[in-house]
Amino acid sequence: MSRINAQRLMADLRSLAEFGKFGTGVDRISFSPADLEARAWLLSRMREAGLDAAIDSVGNVRGVTKNASRAVVIGSHTDSVPKGGWLDGAMGVVYGLEIARSRLESGRAARLGVDVVSFQDEEGSYFPCLGSRSFCGELTEEDLGRTRTATGESIREAIARAGYAGGAPWCLDRARHVAFLEAHIEQGPRLEAEKSRIGVVTGIVGIRRLKITSAGQADHAGTTPMTMRKDAVRPLLELGHRVHAEFPGLSSLDTVWNIGSLLIQPGAANVVPSSAEMILEWRDTSVEKLDQIEATLMSWISDLNRQPGVELTSTPIARIRPTLMAEPLQTAIEASARAERARLMRMPSGAGHDAMVVGHHLPAGMIFIPSIGGRSHDIVEDTSEEDIVLGCEVMAGVVDGLEAV
Ligand SMILES: [Zn+2]
Repeated sequence: MSRINAQRLMADLRSLAEFGKFGTGVDRISFSPADLEARAWLLSRMREAGLDAAIDSVGNVRGVTKNASRAVVIGSHTDSVPKGGWLDGAMGVVYGLEIARSRLESGRAARLGVDVVSFQDEEGSYFPCLGSRSFCGELTEEDLGRTRTATGESIREAIARAGYAGGAPWCLDRARHVAFLEAHIEQGPRLEAEKSRIGVVTGIVGIRRLKITSAGQADHAGTTPMTMRKDAVRPLLELGHRVHAEFPGLSSLDTVWNIGSLLIQPGAANVVPSSAEMILEWRDTSVEKLDQIEATLMSWISDLNRQPGVELTSTPIARIRPTLMAEPLQTAIEASARAERARLMRMPSGAGHDAMVVGHHLPAGMIFIPSIGGRSHDIVEDTSEEDIVLGCEVMAGVVDGLEAV
């Protein structure tokens, strides 16, 4: 028996996709007119569902189940990247709305309520995960002064322009909130490749980024003998080669790495490079693994620095800690997916989500559903209707299971 109304779920998702519609996707960056209209629409849908709904002082739209002393928070974000997809975070918000509404209709809401939320600016037009940071009490006055690069408008100014100023932030209530559940499209190709329909997220990866700079000396590339050059790029290429050759042996199956930036100065075919810079990033859900990789890299860099004419220096430029999803919620998602006879796999999230913030304050669980062709953050982003509905059924099953906890 279905726990949710699939037609209503899809109709709401399609209505939401009309705000900021851009081809087959949406352009709905936070605090844009389309984003504000979408929030107003969501507020009214929450009220129609019988929730106690409001937009808080940072623009989080929340719908609280009345007459429930305990509640699961379900949500994600309705802002998008420029020219983004129609599902991204919007789907996770509409799941929350549909599950809260269905529980009110079936009389189960009194046993365990659902508090639905659309967190502000997950995509970080102003500040990544602004809304979930505010919900968790992590947002500072200084943070509100952060500006959107494209316009120079601060968060505080955007809040005033939107008419959200003056109210209070909606905050995590430890006496009430038992868990946070977020559903999201996978934004990658793994579920589709494995023919799995539900991804049970084990954690959101931590990220390390290292900038390695190399000093050399500019000389004529035709007249300076090879043995007499101080070529800045050569040790970086050696390091890069070693990374791709040896990382598979020391990483876990889920570790990913990327050399996404390589700058060479002066950047001319006939000049020996005088300086070069490489940015190397690696991601994993295990801090031990992240540390182990970093230590190995440092030893490789010192090996290279022992060679004559090599002068490498490294600077960490990002250290984002991993967030593990609560083990009991992973088990609950698996059980619910099995009950729906859905093929599932456990997997980390390589992308950031609001659960990355909330998971440090409240037990958090995440469900992924397949992205067609692994595509996202683009208007081509899509997922089959069957998978969208299945994901919501699985999440509704998880909430039923939490009633007894
Ligand atoms: Zn998202």
